[in-house]
Amino acid sequence: MSIMQEPKIADVKIAEITGRTRVLGILAHPTEHVKAPPGINRIAMMRGKDAVMVPFNVAPGDLDTFVASLRVLKSFDGAIVTVPHKQAIIRLCDEVSPQALAVGAANVLRREADGRLVGHQLDGIGFVEGLRGQGIDVSGRSAYLVGAGGAANAVAFALAEAGIARLTLANRTVEKIEALAAKLKETYPSLDIAIGTADPAGHDLLINGTTLGMSASDPLPFDVSRLKADMIVAEVIMEPEMTPLLKAAREAGCRIHLGRHMLDHQLQLMANFLGL
Ligand code: NAP
Repeated sequence: MSIMQEPKIADVKIAEITGRTRVLGILAHPTEHVKAPPGINRIAMMRGKDAVMVPFNVAPGDLDTFVASLRVLKSFDGAIVTVPHKQAIIRLCDEVSPQALAVGAANVLRREADGRLVGHQLDGIGFVEGLRGQGIDVSGRSAYLVGAGGAANAVAFALAEAGIARLTLANRTVEKIEALAAKLKETYPSLDIAIGTADPAGHDLLINGTTLGMSASDPLPFDVSRLKADMIVAEVIMEPEMTPLLKAAREAGCRIHLGRHMLDHQLQLMANFLGL
């Protein structure tokens, strides 16, 4: 295009970034794969907020220095926190929500006007809201949850908070679910919790909270020969969307629930937490 054909700079339509624009970040390493910024930036525009989310690619060794600088960055309102910083960010926050403390990881960080940094955890609430968005209320149900990592811990606490009637936990490393069960019991003393096996029978909501299914060569997370058509089978895995577990559940006539609903609902929750 010749200079004569170029539109005037002032006529080009963009989301204007000015000296008043509030800065949000997605704190990760690397950042190339992150999915949240376009969604958050759309929410900001829809809500008429002068704010923009940009990638903060910070190596683990630089996290402390970087977070210290966020405290003094007056144009900064907060960040989504993801791999590998979700656990490490906890000790760098001035305040941590009960959910983040219970799970031992935060996935969102807000800067208060006085520079204090508040960490919160929305993975589990996102999962429960994702189910609710599809017309599935967890309250009063019996759930079987496999996994004991970050996602499973968050989901377990959110299920307990949302009023699950009975929760059975299963995982390859049993000590980890024993620790999770003990933490849950401390926070929700009346919750009916059991340590289970690979057999999900006797529950109406079955959840894969492990990484099993991300790779085609993975074994199934639990015994699918025990599936019944009246069960709901839910995933936390987003990629691939149809895991081998969900395919087996569909073949067994179960209702299936995709991992992406957990993230979709988190975007709204994160936007609210970040003040958008
Ligand atoms: P994590 O902390 O690394 O936990 C991994 C879990 O998978 C552990 O329970 C582990 O068991 C189990 N596992 C791994 N390999 C196994 C194997 N070969 N056999 C049996 N169990 C195995 O992972 P995470 O952060 O919880 O993430 C789990 C999944 O959730 C990922 O796909 C992640 O992308 C997804 N996620 C989704 C959302 C969303 O919004 N949809 C949010 C967060 C995470 P052991 O304890 O025995 O090692």
